[in-house]
Amino acid sequence: MSLLECRLERELLSTEEESAIAQVGKARELYQLSFSGRLGHDLPRHGNKEKINSGLKLSTSRHRFDRVDIGNQPVAPFEYLDFLETVVFPHTVNTFSTKFLGHMTAPLPEFITEVAGVISRMNQNQVKVETSNVLTLLERQVLGAVHHKIYRKQAGFYESYMQCPESCLGVVTGGGTLANITSLSYALNSAFRADGNFAGLTKEGLVSALNHYGFKDVVVIGSKRMHYSVDKAAKLLGLGERNVIRLETDSHGRVDLAQMRSNLEECRKGKIHVLALIGIAGATETGSVDPLEEIGALAAEFGVHFHADAAWGGAYTLSSNHRELVKGIEMADTVTICAHKQLYIPMGTSLCIFKSPGFASHSENNTAYQCKKGSYDLGRYTIEGSRPASILMLHALLNLWGDAGMGHVFDTTLSLTQNFTGKIKSSENFLLVQEPALNIVVYRYIPVTLREKVLTKEKLTYAEIELINEINKKIQSEQFINGNSFVSSTTLVNGEEEVVVFRAVFCNPLTRENDLDALLADQAKIARDIEIA
Ligand SMILES: *Cc1c(COP(=O)(O)O)cnc(C)c1O
Repeated sequence: MSLLECRLERELLSTEEESAIAQVGKARELYQLSFSGRLGHDLPRHGNKEKINSGLKLSTSRHRFDRVDIGNQPVAPFEYLDFLETVVFPHTVNTFSTKFLGHMTAPLPEFITEVAGVISRMNQNQVKVETSNVLTLLERQVLGAVHHKIYRKQAGFYESYMQCPESCLGVVTGGGTLANITSLSYALNSAFRADGNFAGLTKEGLVSALNHYGFKDVVVIGSKRMHYSVDKAAKLLGLGERNVIRLETDSHGRVDLAQMRSNLEECRKGKIHVLALIGIAGATETGSVDPLEEIGALAAEFGVHFHADAAWGGAYTLSSNHRELVKGIEMADTVTICAHKQLYIPMGTSLCIFKSPGFASHSENNTAYQCKKGSYDLGRYTIEGSRPASILMLHALLNLWGDAGMGHVFDTTLSLTQNFTGKIKSSENFLLVQEPALNIVVYRYIPVTLREKVLTKEKLTYAEIELINEINKKIQSEQFINGNSFVSSTTLVNGEEEVVVFRAVFCNPLTRENDLDALLADQAKIARDIEIA
């Protein structure tokens, strides 16, 4: 169409048509706003030069974020970009730094961030086939593949169940917390399923379920190192934190099996339903791994659900050279694995794997408009509704890294852990608190004045114990503010005593030995300055 023809056509349009065109034009304009490829150019990357933390104190920076009139006056993209680059980005935490060694947050592989971009561009919703189509099958396949890594069932098992909409080998969740909640909720629904004239927990509720099945109460049993998401699950299920029984551990942080057995016996006598035994494969604070095989045997003997909280350690099942680290995991009825921890995917993706294909059938959700019986809709089996296609990132990781790539990354992070542990053991400044089972190290600084006493294992006074705790807390918070290196801190309760420790997490395979040395030197210097002051 020539320019003249265009003009002629325009003149022929009615005013309604013109205003409709203007409206679409405006919408198109709004959609076409762009940062022209400049967004995120100066984000902190893998390099060592960048600080981990700018030292910004939230309590003194609140005023920068105290206006509620966001959006009253729209700003131009370049102006907004300037805001991000000056006020926001420089004060985020550089989780990609090779000296950021305190949390379960790692740098992401380049291809993962690329897939993440494509996932937002496709904007699929995994809740139902009509908003995700083939990605439904892909999600079921990845869940099946991870199921196979854990349980190693025969090919026929996966042929029957992996893509059969009436079965479910697991669900994708927005995090480990939700995976743990899913497993415990579904285990309760499965235990208190429909039976005779009782329509099941999901229809009749907990009070009727207890009456029908003849129980007085419901508890969850695991070690004192259980993640607090188990308490959240108990609260949501109408149980309560007191219904979570936390048992003592041995010097390796492994749950006391004798205590577990006696609790199971007591519950049996007292008509208390044990909702689950929980075995931890990689405790959040210490990385310790419970004796999963023994817990599995106890669960079988007492007919109790066994949940493996492998949010951290479950990743090792994806490398044939490392599966031994979490052996016994295959005895669990349900397994939590966080893909956003040791599977190098951005925050917000975890898995809950179900050993039995029929496990979730007592927890199914159906509506008239989605998740109908017989449909492929994944929402039938999830607590969440709308959900991103983040599984594509895990699919990409499994394909591009494969068994060998995963194995290489785990070898690297585990040998960094051993290297660091050796440095702690041979340093006069620090004391190793527990031999690491995986890639988390807990250790502490010992003040110069107390080294002799600690070395000879002399009994410390209450004041001396407090002194050690205080200096460890101070070192950690100064180290965070200074932003040159980072480990986290936690307090381990051992009997009566509270032990403040540093917690180093080695999940960045790009970290090098000189980063470890720099971190320990940084801590020693901060400690010396505190001791002199
Ligand atoms: C991290 C973690 C969780 C919770 O995972 P989120 O993704 O943070 O919700 C649960 N259990 C263990 C052992 C963990 O380490």
